[in-house]
Parts: sequence; C-alpha cells; structure tokens
Amino acid sequence: MPDTASHEPGGLAVRDVSFRYGSRTALDGVGFEVAPGRFAALLGPNGAGKSTLFSLLTRLFTTRDGRILVAGHDLSRHPRAALARMGVVFQSQTLDLDLTIRQNLSYFAALHGLSGREAALRIDAALERLAIADRAGEKARNLNGGHRRRTEIARALVHRPSVLLLDEPTVGLDAAARAAITDHVHRLAAEDGLTVLWATHLTDEVTDGDRLVVLHRGRVLADGECGALRGGRSLRDYFLATTGADAPEAVPGGPA
Ligand code: ADP
Repeated sequence: MPDTASHEPGGLAVRDVSFRYGSRTALDGVGFEVAPGRFAALLGPNGAGKSTLFSLLTRLFTTRDGRILVAGHDLSRHPRAALARMGVVFQSQTLDLDLTIRQNLSYFAALHGLSGREAALRIDAALERLAIADRAGEKARNLNGGHRRRTEIARALVHRPSVLLLDEPTVGLDAAARAAITDHVHRLAAEDGLTVLWATHLTDEVTDGDRLVVLHRGRVLADGECGALRGGRSLRDYFLATTGADAPEAVPGGPA
C-alpha cells in the first residue's frame, strides 16, 4: 500500500438502536447517518446516552436492537471489518505515560499488524497531521493535556480508518487546547475526508456547517445542519427550546 494512501471513503449509519441497563432505557430507537467526510456533533447533556452509544459503536457493549454500519460494514455481522475502519478516542486518557509519543503509536501500529518502515511513515504522517511531530521522542508524561489528546487522535489515525469517533475529547482541557483540538478534527473531515462523530455536551464545540444530532434521554430530538436548525438563535437557546435542558457553552468553572 502506498504510504500516501488516504482514508478510504465510508460513512457511519446508526439505525434504530436501543439499549437498556436492566430496566433503565439508555437508548430508545436511536438513528442517524453521517455521510463520508462529514463532521457530525452528537450533542447531549450528561445522561443523554452518548457514552452508551459509544460503547455500542466500539463493541464494548452489544445489542440486538438495531444496526450499526461502519463504512458499509455491519458491526454485528462483520465486526473485524467494521472495527478496522474505525478510529476511536475515548473520554478517559489511554496513553502509557512512561512511553514516548512514538512508542505509544508504535505499539498501537503493531496491534494493527504494522511494523518497520510502513509503520514509521504512518506514525510520522499522523504526528505531523496533529502538529506534534516535534514531541515524538518525549515521554507522554511530559506533555500537557492538550498534547496528550492530540497524540491520542494521531494514534487513532495510524491504521487509516475512514470513521473517527471521539467521546467528549476535550474534557478537562483549557479553552485554547479545546479550540486547537476541535479545529484539528474539523480539518481531518474537511481536508482528509474522514467521517467524524464527535460527542459533546458543550455547544461552542459545534459550528454552523456541522451536522448536528441532538440526543436527549436516549432519543434523537433533532438531526440536520447546525446553522439551519438553530436559525437566528444561539445553539444554546435552540438546544434549550428543543430539549428543555441547558447545554453549557464551555466548561463550567473552567478557564475562559
Ligand atoms: P452520557 O454519556 O450522555 O452522559 P450515558 O450513556 O452515560 O450518557 O448514560 C445514559 C443513561 O444510562 C443515563 O440515564 C445513565 O444514568 C444510565 N447509565 C449509564 N451507565 C449505566 C450503568 N452502568 N448502569 C445503569 N445505568 C447506566
């Protein structure tokens, strides 16, 4: 495979997915599609069901209620093919802090059967893409939260997925780091053709050109282009009117 190969096109489809924890319904007939190369924000307050959906998308949980297609591969029937096309950034930090940035990515590449020159080229390209190539030899422990997150995003690109999932990726970061990361990931969709699903409870992480899926109490309440949905209102006011729940613009109590 040439080292310049881009991400193969492929979107994400979630169809009529439901999930219960015992008697508690966490997701109730959730459905939406993200076209190849689009950035979609999954916006919902705490408890909306975002993490549950991510657990289903990454097959930590399974359900018989509904279907999930990743770049056309059915996640239940062809999990290996579907998962191979998916990059994931979990909410919790998952780097080995005692390894260097490059070692963290090399280990991940090896898990995907990549080694030698091919792995090195892909790692270099991913670190360049996230503008952290100059930190490759440093231990993850020495990086700030924003750079660690960028490393995790770079790591999620090494196997060249077509769909990138991020579960509240800016939690715990200051405003500048949050802005840098949202900008990087928007560019991965716009310039590299990645299909992105970005879960958040913060309205200022969603821009007018984004696809917006509003999740509330396990249901999709709205789905469309953010600018068209909100009309003349702020996204926060639109969200309040649609769900009856507040969605903060930024981290409560966090840096401005
Ligand atoms: P979000 O990620 O949007 O905050 P979650 O997916 O964590 O939402 O939660 C969705 C719903 O499922 C909430 O009502 C939550 O209380 C419930 N829930 C989440 N995890 C569990 C669990 N392990 N056991 C029981 N209920 C859960």
